[in-house]
Amino acid sequence: MDKNIKVNKERLISRLDELAQIGALEGGEDFPTLFDGVSRLALSDADRQARDLTVSWMRSLSLTIHIDQVGNMIGIRPGEEELPPVLLGSHIDTVTVAGRYDGSYGVMAALEAINVLNDQKVNTRRPLGVAAFTNEEGVRYTPGMLGSTVYVGKLPVAEALATRGFDGSTFSQELDRIGYAGPMKPGAIHPYAFLELHIEQGPLLDQQNIPIGVVETVTGITWLEATVTGTANHAGTTPIDLRRDAGLAAAKLIKSLREIALSIGGNQRATCGMIAFEPNAINVIPGKAILTIDLRNSDGDALIRAEELLHTRAKEIEDSDGVSISVRPLEHVLPVEFDPIVVDAIEQAANELGISSRRMISGAGHDAQLMAGICPTAMIFIPSRNGISHSPAEYSSAEELETGANVLLYAALKLANQKG
Ligand SMILES: [Zn+2]
Repeated sequence: MDKNIKVNKERLISRLDELAQIGALEGGEDFPTLFDGVSRLALSDADRQARDLTVSWMRSLSLTIHIDQVGNMIGIRPGEEELPPVLLGSHIDTVTVAGRYDGSYGVMAALEAINVLNDQKVNTRRPLGVAAFTNEEGVRYTPGMLGSTVYVGKLPVAEALATRGFDGSTFSQELDRIGYAGPMKPGAIHPYAFLELHIEQGPLLDQQNIPIGVVETVTGITWLEATVTGTANHAGTTPIDLRRDAGLAAAKLIKSLREIALSIGGNQRATCGMIAFEPNAINVIPGKAILTIDLRNSDGDALIRAEELLHTRAKEIEDSDGVSISVRPLEHVLPVEFDPIVVDAIEQAANELGISSRRMISGAGHDAQLMAGICPTAMIFIPSRNGISHSPAEYSSAEELETGANVLLYAALKLANQKG
C-alpha cells in the first residue's frame, strides 16, 4: 500500500465546519463553550440542508447516489469489478443540543477518504461507498438507529413510515416534506463490509492517550422499570418498626445495583437514572417509588446474570422491608460482536501507519451494530475529550480527526482490495 496516500486534514475539517454551520446553536451565555454546538433533529429543515450539502459533496466526488424509502443515503464509487461495495458511514442527524462530531465525523471522513482516492486516481477492486443513515439519535422518532434497523430488515418500511414523533409529526410526512423519500428498497445494496468511524463518547482513549480504538463489541443493554409499593403514612407518628417505606426499599435496590456491578465485574454497568416517589411530600413516608434501571455488559450471559441478581435482591428487600417490588422489562438489546477480519483490518491499518491502538467495547449504540447483522462490520473510535458527547463541549483535535480518517482510509482499502 502506498503510504503517501493520506487524507487532507484541512479539507476534512472544512467539511466538518461547513456542516456544523447547519443547525448551529447560538454560542454565548447558554452554551459557554469554545465550540458552539448544533441541533439537527432527524427530518427537520436543518437535516434537509445537511443532507443537501452531503449529497452535493457526493455528486462532486462523482458518486452514484441512492436514496432509500426511509431516507438512508448511499453514494457509490465504482470498483474495478462489479462486486458488493465496502461501505463507510454513520449519521448526520443529532440530538437536540449536540456537538459537531458525533455521527457527522464518520460521514465526512468517508467523503474525505474517497476524495483522496479520486485525487490520486487510485482504483479499488470492490466499489467503495459513503452511507448516512436516517434518525440514528432517536430523539425525534423512536427507535434510535431507525434507518439502519430498516436497512437490515429488522423494522418494516411501512412501520417506520408510520412512526409518530415526539412533536406529533409523522415520519413519512416529514420525509416527503424534506424531499428524501427515495425509491430504493432499503437493503438493496448489500455491502461486502461496513466500517463506521466515530468519536468514542467515553473517556478511555483520551485518558490513556491512545489515538485509535478498534471496537470489537457493542455492549448489550437491559432497561427495566421497578415499582416499589409500600404504605404512605405520617413521617412523625408512624413508628420505625411499623413502616412499609417504599423510599427506603428503593434506596436499598439502588445500592444493590453497585454491588451487582462489582460482583459481576468485567465491564458490567448498573445505573438508576430516574426515580419518582409518591406522594413525594416532605412529611410523608413514600407509599410508592418508581425507578429505572440500566444494565449493560458486552457479555450477554453476564448481562442475564446481572438481571437475575437484581430479581433476587428485590425479593430479599420485599421480605426485609414488607414492601412489594415488581420489575418490568422496557428493552433488551443483545451485545453485538464485530467481525474479526474487519477488526484485524483496522488494527493492521493503524499498525502500518505507525499509530498506536487498543481494542475496546462500545458502551453506546451505533448504526454499525445493525449493519453487523448483514455484513462483516467493525468500528473505529477516536478520543473525545473527557469522554464528552451529546453536548456542544464535544471535542476532538484536528490531528485526532485526521488520524482516524487515515485509519478508515487504509482499512477501507484493505477490505476493498481483499481477494475472495
Ligand atoms: Zn453517533
